[in-house]
Amino acid sequence: MTKKIELAPENNKLCEKICSISGEVVTMCDQCGTCSASCPMAAEMDINPSEMMKMSQLGMEEVLETKAIWLCASCFTCVVRCPRGLDLSKVAEALRQIKLRQAEDHMDIKKLTIEELEGLPQIALISACRKFTG
Ligand code: SF4
Ligand code: SF4
Repeated sequence: MTKKIELAPENNKLCEKICSISGEVVTMCDQCGTCSASCPMAAEMDINPSEMMKMSQLGMEEVLETKAIWLCASCFTCVVRCPRGLDLSKVAEALRQIKLRQAEDHMDIKKLTIEELEGLPQIALISACRKFTG
């Protein structure tokens, strides 16, 4: 008989969304820490990859505000080493997608001074306003 894998705990919308976008069953992560120990970007991250998985499992919205989700370089080192066969790069990508779909501009153009608007190259303004939007 096939064991039914629970995609996300009930009423855990963020976890459900991460699983549905990434195709990864984040609840299967058993926090072994192999990803954190292997990740070449971990030293630069504010939370390590296994914490990213734990926060995703728990549906903690704070994970969307971390630097780590943007620093994952999709190098797949953790992917080939994960004993549960999880693809953390897809989870990080899903978290970025969720954040981008909130359509928040990184810069509020209405708060820029006339001097800034006149001095900044147009391309810099456009990229600053669009970098974090979907
Ligand atoms: S290596 Fe896999 S199972 Fe271990 S903490 Fe990382 S994601 Fe979870
Ligand atoms: S895929 Fe991302 S989280 Fe995994 S080892 Fe590479 S940079 Fe780290």
